Amino acid sequence: MNKTEKLQSILELHSKWTENPGLFCKKGCSHCCTLNVSATSLEAELIGRKIGSSLKSKVESSMKEKRFMPETTTNTIANLALENIEPPEEELVFSEKTCPFLFDNECIIYDIRPLSCRIMLSLKDCGKIATAELDERTMTINTIFQQYVELLDHDGLSGNIIDLLVHGSNPVFISKFPANQVPRAIMIPPEYRNEMKELLLELNKIVYEKSA
Ligand code: SF4
Repeated sequence: MNKTEKLQSILELHSKWTENPGLFCKKGCSHCCTLNVSATSLEAELIGRKIGSSLKSKVESSMKEKRFMPETTTNTIANLALENIEPPEEELVFSEKTCPFLFDNECIIYDIRPLSCRIMLSLKDCGKIATAELDERTMTINTIFQQYVELLDHDGLSGNIIDLLVHGSNPVFISKFPANQVPRAIMIPPEYRNEMKELLLELNKIVYEKSA
């Protein structure tokens, strides 16, 4: 498997591990489909390869809108936590504009959407409660996958998907994106460590299999 095939396998595995008929989130629900979508450069590469020029110009036109631009990564936060260091505060930006990949209330890149979209696994209608409500087990699984998606792309970057798609290969802008990190530990609460051993085995198999 090459790196993007590994990424797709990890994203499919996330769907398997978070399958839950009680979830409110489903294809066609778009409460969280704003411009605040974070991704790794590998996720942006996967999406960038599959979208055509008309969609690329729609993405480019989103550049003028306010959006959240992450300044740190999940593994950076995890590595700092191991040293009891508080992560830098992020400037949170509320986005009122919809994601450029949303058409008629449906995500047109649903099968290759980034992990940050997939982890919004709410048990209640976010439109009514204005936030997603996740159970602890799902949040644990999400963090593990965020750490592995970043690990897979450890020599890459993270950022808002719009910025990565437009400027991800521009050396002038690359220094503005936070660099991905190799995690020094995977953050799993004690009560889930036993159950998650199987997941870690599956993820390690995908990530460390020799790349094609
Ligand atoms: S990529 Fe798809 S799922 Fe993610 S915010 Fe955009 S439309 Fe929604």
